Formats: sequence, structure tokens, C-alpha cells
Amino acid sequence: FWVVFEGADGVGKTTQVDLLAAHLRSAAGGARDVLTTREPGGTPLGIELRQAIMHGDHVVPRAEALLYAADRAHHIGTKVRPALEAGTVVLQDRYLDSSVVYQGGARGLGDEVERISLWATEGMLPDLTIVLDMAPDPARMSRDLDRVERETIAKSEEMRQGFLARAALDPGRYAVIDAARPVESVHASVVEAVAAAMDR
Ligand code: C5P
Ligand code: MG
Repeated sequence: FWVVFEGADGVGKTTQVDLLAAHLRSAAGGARDVLTTREPGGTPLGIELRQAIMHGDHVVPRAEALLYAADRAHHIGTKVRPALEAGTVVLQDRYLDSSVVYQGGARGLGDEVERISLWATEGMLPDLTIVLDMAPDPARMSRDLDRVERETIAKSEEMRQGFLARAALDPGRYAVIDAARPVESVHASVVEAVAAAMDR
């Protein structure tokens, strides 16, 4: 069973992956074999690609999209697919929707990004994608903001809408969870959504 967490930066994806892993590994969660992983950077090659994308010289958008796709192809091929075939539950921080929203949307590369990603992974899709949803902080909006701060908030709202639009396309495979709540409440909703999806 494969669960992916998506959502804009800072919504708590990594925290929720770790909490869900602990839950599923415990008796209460059925003591399943669990692998946690992430993109980009879920493999040794992926760590190098992540460095190249994020800390290298400026990477042109199409090269960036292909580096993410290379990370994904290698990650799915060497780590995620074998784990799933062995019956392990895989909990993953970011996948294809991040590329559709960031490289396709923000970088303006459009629909092709999804096709590149599906080619890279031979069409592998998670059983459940959890979108952690949070509005840009209204307390910050009301303060005196400079131009860069306003743009950052506008951008995070755009990313947010991108993930919500992806979830709306295929409601059976997605759960949108309000992440603007205490970590434990969000975790409870995550556990519920995963249990429901595993029962289906
Ligand atoms: O979530 P994580 O810390 O791994 O993401 C690092 C950065 O990479 C984030 O700021 C995110 O916006 C960006 N990213 C991206 N396209 C992806 C995945 C992540 O632009 N496909
Ligand atoms: Mg994170």
C-alpha cells in the first residue's frame, strides 16, 4: 500500500509521514512493515540530483523538470516498486503532483510534465494521495508586508490551489486534509483517511 503526502511548503508533510509511520508500526496500526521516503532525494543518486537542482548553478526549467523526473524514475525503480512488491507500506513525501504544480504550473511547463513523470515511473500511481491543505497565514496578511513577502504569500496560495485542483480531478484516490490544526488532530485525520483507503 502506497501513500503519498503532497501540499505546499511548510504544511507539515514530513511530520505527518513520520507520525503515520510510527502509528502503522505500532500494534494499534496493525504493526505493518513501513518504508518512509521522499522526492527529491530518496536514494543516493537522488540526493546528488537534489543537490544539483537546489544548490547548483541556476538550472533552466526544462532541465529542472528532467532532473526531478530522473530522481523519480530511479527512486520508484530501485526503492518504491521493490518495497511495494514485498508487501511493505510505503509512505512518501511528495511525488508527481509536486512536479505538476511546481514545474508544470509555477515554472510554466504545462501538461507535458505529467507525461514525463508517468513515463519515468511506467505509470505508477499511489493508492492514496493526502493533500495537506493550509491557507497562507491570514495573521501575516494583515501585517505590513513588503513586496517580496506579498509575492511569497500569493505564490503559496497559487501552489495550494494547484494541489486542490489535482485532488478534485480524482477524488477516489485523494484525501484533502485541513492542515491548519494542531499536529495531533491532523494526524488523527490522516490515520482515518488511510484506514478507509486500506479497507477499500
Ligand atoms: O519538501 P522538500 O523540502 O523536499 O522540497 C524542497 C523544495 O523543492 C521545496 O521548496 C519545493 O517547492 C521544491 N520542489 C519543487 N518541485 C518538486 C519538488 C519540490 O519545486 N517536484
Ligand atoms: Mg518537508
